[in-house]
Amino acid sequence: MFSSERPLRPRPAQAGTVYLVGAGPGDPELLTVRAASLLAQADVVIYDHLVATAILDLAPANTERIYAGKQRGNHTLPQEDINLLLVQQAQSGKIVVRLKGGDPYIFGRGGEEVETLAKHGVPFEVVPGVTAAAGIAAYAGIPLTHREYSQACVFVTGHLKDGSMALDWQGLARRRQTVVIYMGLHGLPTLCHELIAHGLPHDWPAAIVQQGTTANQRTVTGTLTTLPELASAARLKAPTLIIVGEVVRLREKLAWFEKLAGIVV
Ligand code: SAH
Repeated sequence: MFSSERPLRPRPAQAGTVYLVGAGPGDPELLTVRAASLLAQADVVIYDHLVATAILDLAPANTERIYAGKQRGNHTLPQEDINLLLVQQAQSGKIVVRLKGGDPYIFGRGGEEVETLAKHGVPFEVVPGVTAAAGIAAYAGIPLTHREYSQACVFVTGHLKDGSMALDWQGLARRRQTVVIYMGLHGLPTLCHELIAHGLPHDWPAAIVQQGTTANQRTVTGTLTTLPELASAARLKAPTLIIVGEVVRLREKLAWFEKLAGIVV
């Protein structure tokens, strides 16, 4: 127990403040209590592509909802416009909830949004969320660290820039380490190829999980050699998360969610 522990009584939201809130990876029940409380008080919710409808429904019916988008190759609002929209909405005296998938500070551009708020003197609060890596690890039965297999875990973005991935391959191709790749589906063949080229075994375990923590969760496991083909044959749909490392072997014993949700794997 923490000595500074306070009772679970939500702090009231303040007008003119932006709450940058993580919505978690998909399952609405993975939302934090703070996030639910802020949604219930919001005057306006500005939300991203990966936010579940059931979560948006926690805001009162008369709360304004603004879709800020962001799908691969289909950016509804440019990032600068989103940043300024947040400033305008807060300056008009509203309780603004900026809702993002997963955690706002993990590949979510939350930092950029809050920098703009700070620059304009707009008060803000950041509410962490369950990031895709944590949510999917739990629901797919793949512990990200494990004393026998992995003492470190690295999160990277596999987003391709000019058709290539500028990653520290030497640092990623290490044993006793788990690598989690966000936005990596299109770059999967490159990723697997580079990890082998930089020293990981051909048969190093790897998994890709589609729409983790939802009823559409699908997991494909294989090795660095087989995964690109298996993933392509499975015609996975975004969003997907890739996990590379020996911890993937544990899934065989530890998978629970698919059984519970009646998902055939
Ligand atoms: N801020 C978010 C990540 C935003 S980047 C977070 O902390 O989770 C978007 C990427 O996250 C997707 O391309 C995908 O790689 C991953 N992702 C998010 N939700 C996911 C889900 N339910 N299943 C699989 N991958 C997911």
